Amino acid sequence: MIPAVADIDTVQRWLTESQRVAVLTGAGISAESGIPVFRGAGGLWQQHRPEELATPEAFARDPRLVWEWYDWRRTRVAAAEPNPGHRALAQLERHVPELTLITQNVDGLHERAGSRRILRLHGDLWTLQCTGCGRQDRNTDVPLNELPPRCRCGALLRPGVVWFGEALPVEVLQQASTAAETAQVFLVVGTSALVQPAASLPFTARAHGAHVVEINPEKTTLSRYADVSFLARAGEFLPRLLQLRH
Ligand code: NAD
Ligand code: ZN
Repeated sequence: MIPAVADIDTVQRWLTESQRVAVLTGAGISAESGIPVFRGAGGLWQQHRPEELATPEAFARDPRLVWEWYDWRRTRVAAAEPNPGHRALAQLERHVPELTLITQNVDGLHERAGSRRILRLHGDLWTLQCTGCGRQDRNTDVPLNELPPRCRCGALLRPGVVWFGEALPVEVLQQASTAAETAQVFLVVGTSALVQPAASLPFTARAHGAHVVEINPEKTTLSRYADVSFLARAGEFLPRLLQLRH
């Protein structure tokens, strides 16, 4: 489906007239960089489902298996590049007085594309966290030397990501909620809008008067609540949508 030009013009006008814009991204924005999404076509890793590996219980049961999966994901992401969708959002930061980029992704492709102000709701693949002393370190080795990796204190290290069943970092979530409450435009890009609490942010924005704009090649539960829903791929469509004139 080709997005209507009238809708593109309208959204561009909203964006150029706004002081505060928030963007929520999900796995879909990295799909065109070759990083598989969780839900939807193609996403299995060996015989395991991500939902069964990304849990504290899975890590307690078999830390090596969980780490093999994360090591595989880190290796894939390290070989990938940010795509034009990530880059268009990094550019948008220069046009909007206050842009808040909220991401559910852990791949680090937004920062590699040049975005600066990022709220990472689900942590980061490149941070390792000690299950004993709590120490956090950035580590970009691919593959890791030792699986599962250990801290200097001897305890196991875990990926610095938020697993299913774990709480999101309180301060980050608070900042994301504030951004949703105060944004004049709220863009939702490449998320199935199913994983809470991230999925509620567009509804918060809407309740506080923001224009909600969705970009996703498939309809989601959010689509009918959005002011405009573009059925399009982020890497193809965002560079066009975010080409703003002043
Ligand atoms: P999801 O896998 O549930 O949904 C992905 C969405 O992206 C789908 O709605 C799909 O239609 C859409 N999509 C596919 N291709 C697209 C494209 N080219 N452009 C725009 N949209 C496209 O992902 P989610 O909603 O982010 O939730 C899954 C959870 O999994 C998150 O918590 C996230 O942390 C994690 N995750 C992260 C990564 C990553 O860091 N890249 C990858 C997979 C999963
Ligand atoms: Zn330690």
